[in-house]
Formats: sequence, structure tokens, C-alpha cells
Amino acid sequence: MTVTLPVELPADDAELADAVASWLRQNLPADWLAAVEAGDRATVERIRADRDRAAAWFDVLGEAGLATPTWPREHGGLGLTADRASIVSEQLVRYSAERPNQDFVGLALAGPTILEWGTDEQKAARLPALARGRELWCQLFSEPGAGSDLAALSTRAVQQEDGNWLVNGQKVWNSYAHLADFGLLMTRTDPAAPKHRGITYFLLDMRTPGVEPRPLKQMTGDAEFNETFLTDVVIPDSARLGPVNQGWAVAITTLMQERNGLSGRPAVGPGASDALVARAVATGAWRDPLLRDRLVSAFVEERSLQMTTIRSFVAAGSGAPTAEGSIRKLAHATLSEKLGVLGTELEPDGAIAWDAHERPAAVEQFLAMKTYSIAGGTSEIQRNIIAERVLGLPKDPDPERHTPFQERSRG
Ligand SMILES: Cc1cc2nc3c(=O)[nH]c(=O)nc-3n(C[C@H](O)[C@H](O)[C@H](O)COP(=O)(O)OP(=O)(O)OC[C@H]3O[C@@H](n4cnc5c(N)ncnc54)[C@H](O)[C@@H]3O)c2cc1C
Repeated sequence: MTVTLPVELPADDAELADAVASWLRQNLPADWLAAVEAGDRATVERIRADRDRAAAWFDVLGEAGLATPTWPREHGGLGLTADRASIVSEQLVRYSAERPNQDFVGLALAGPTILEWGTDEQKAARLPALARGRELWCQLFSEPGAGSDLAALSTRAVQQEDGNWLVNGQKVWNSYAHLADFGLLMTRTDPAAPKHRGITYFLLDMRTPGVEPRPLKQMTGDAEFNETFLTDVVIPDSARLGPVNQGWAVAITTLMQERNGLSGRPAVGPGASDALVARAVATGAWRDPLLRDRLVSAFVEERSLQMTTIRSFVAAGSGAPTAEGSIRKLAHATLSEKLGVLGTELEPDGAIAWDAHERPAAVEQFLAMKTYSIAGGTSEIQRNIIAERVLGLPKDPDPERHTPFQERSRG
């Protein structure tokens, strides 16, 4: 039987954590809870990998509002501020009850963007399914000619006489697009306007004829992301998010959420550096004083980042994330690279030669260490944002910022 959280959540943070933990102990399936409490990771992972069981659990979690604690109650959330929501997230992680990484676009990007810009119909149609994990979302922003300079995108959407939009173009690096039910799509709708002003944003049903994601192999060996071809795709006007030609403002909502969400766990506690220290002790590398010094400094950096994240969530309250999120994203990206290199130094043999099917954790971490310095805007772009929007320095010169998109000299 599902037990629901009390409507009035405790105001005290420790009591909130206890309320969530006790709810989880009462509602998590018995074998799942037993495996968590026994520290049996293999069994936990096996249960979570069972799609039917995971779906049933995410339904219960969504029903209780715990998957989307910052969303308003009328849209299936708990109406918590970001810092209080992080207390909920921390308990979910502790019990291995959280939604998987591939739901990041749906929960952290699509949900908040629809909440801010969606019509009542769009909110009613999409948010309940998002909260319960019934739909997987992807982000169709980057293009072969538009990454850091996202506003240079050229995927074209033309409105037809019947009001529908006809879309043609190509997107790239779209994580999970081959599995997704919906995509956040940015298109060019007015090429006669300067590049930031002629963009329109859509919620694309990925099953629409003409949408063709093709998986791309990454250096980790996985193929999580795709290039996505859009050929004569017909999108109803009811799928437009926000006003025509004002899609850049809608995208800023998504991008702010993304930078804010890619800055590491919003909780102070064991993280990637703790795991490295444990490995260093196990392999004997801990005896090397120079390596030990670097490990401890990475540990301090990670804890400082966690505390800064909590502090900024407290400062933001229930307000939207600000450009300061770029500072944490940059710090997280730098730390991630540092930890990736350190891991291979702890196990140099395993890092050079490994079994194709069973890569050591150090290799996994090394091959993926660049993710955060590129995804969601590169570290150079975060530095530009910090310079311009946090420090108030002059803008990067762009002589064609006000030139109609179709008359720009660059592709
Ligand atoms: C793991 C991963 C997942 C991703 N998932 C998605 C996704 O789901 N959906 C999606 O749409 N995109 C996704 N991306 C794409 C990502 O957003 C882009 O790769 C990123 O914005 C950079 O764009 P680009 O690759 O075109 O590089 P470019 O923009 O071509 O940049 C090349 C280099 O030039 C530098 N540079 C560019 N402009 C400037 C400047 N003004 N000042 C200083 N330096 C500059 C960059 O920092 C970079 O080092 C993903 C990327 C990765 C790595």
C-alpha cells in the first residue's frame, strides 16, 4: 500500500530528511530496501535495471511528489525551495530510489521550462507524465554549425496555411534521442531577423514521421548521443512553447537550469573523491605522499563545491537560477577532469590495458572526464558568462549580432 507524505512537510530540515527516509522505508519494495540496507550494489542495480519494476517505482515516487520536489503542488510537486528539495534528493540517492541520469533532460530542463512558458494544456499534458517518469525527453539544440554559438542554429521551421509548422534540418549530440518520447527543439523561424530574434521553440513528439535519430559512438564505447535528422517534419502549432520568434528567451530558461543542474550533487557527503581515496588505500597508492596530497586537495575541492552548491540553493530560495550557476559548472568540470587523471595514476596498469567488456572504474572515469567541460556549454563559454554576467566585464565582440541572420557572413 502506498503511504503518502504528510501534506505539511516538517519545517525543520532534519525532520524533513527523517520524513522522507521513513516514507522510503515504508514504500520501497522489500527486496530493494533489503539490498540497499545490506550495501548490496549488484542486487540494487539488477532491480533498477528491470524496466517494469523501475517504472512501477517511479510511478509511486511521482505520485508522492518526491521526483519533482520543487514543482508546485498543483503540478505534482511539493512546492519546496531548491535547498529543501536537495534534502529530498539526498535521501533518494541514499536509498538508491532516485530517477536515473537519463531523466535529467525531462526533470531538470523540460519540466521547469514548461512550467515557466507552457500553456495550461501543455502543462496538463506533459507534467504529470514527466513527474512519474513515463516519458523520456531529449534536447535538440546543438547543430553541426551551432554549438557554443547556439543562436546561429539553422534548422528551419515554416508555418503552413493550416497553422502547422514544417521543419527541416539537422541536430547533433542529442543524448538519448534514439530512446526519447519528446524533444526540446529550437528552430529558425525568421531568417530576416538578427540571430537571437528569429528562433521558435517546440515540444517535439519524437515519433513524428521525418524525425530520425542516428546513434553516435562515443570514446567511452557507449552510444548515448545521436545526430538527429528532421525531414519535412509536421509539428502542430499547439506544440509551440512560448511566442513565435521568442524562442531564445525560452531557451535561456532551459540553459540556466542546465548549468545549475550540472554542478554536482547538491548534498555534502561522500562523492567521487572519497571513492578515489578508498581505491588509493586499496591499491597501496595512498603511500605515495605526492599523490596523497593531490587526492586530499581534490577531496577539499569537492566538499567546497558541495557546500557552495547548497549555499547558492539557499540564497536562490524559490527564485530561478542565475548566471552564477556557471561558476559551479566550471568548478565541477575542472574537478571532474582532475579526478579522471588522478584515477588512472592510482591504477596505471589497469588504465593502459583493460578487458573490452569490463573496464576498470578508473578508465570509465578517465574516458568520461571531459563530459562536463563540453556538455551544457563548454568551460570557455562558462568563463565568458561569468565575465559578462557576473563580473560585468564588456561583452565578447560580435559585429554581426544585429545583422539579419540570412545576411551574416558566417555559416
Ligand atoms: C556528453 C555530451 C552530451 C551532450 N548532450 C547534448 C544534448 O543532449 N543536446 C544538445 O543539443 N547538445 C548536447 N551536447 C552538445 C554540447 O552542448 C556542445 O558540444 C557544446 O555546446 C559545444 O559546442 P560544439 O561542440 O559545437 O563546439 P564549438 O562551439 O565548435 O567549440 C569548439 C571550441 O571552441 C571554443 N569556443 C567556441 N566559442 C568560443 C568563444 N566565444 N570564446 C571562447 N572559446 C570558444 C569552445 O569552448 C570549444 O573548445 C552534448 C555534448 C556532450 C559532450
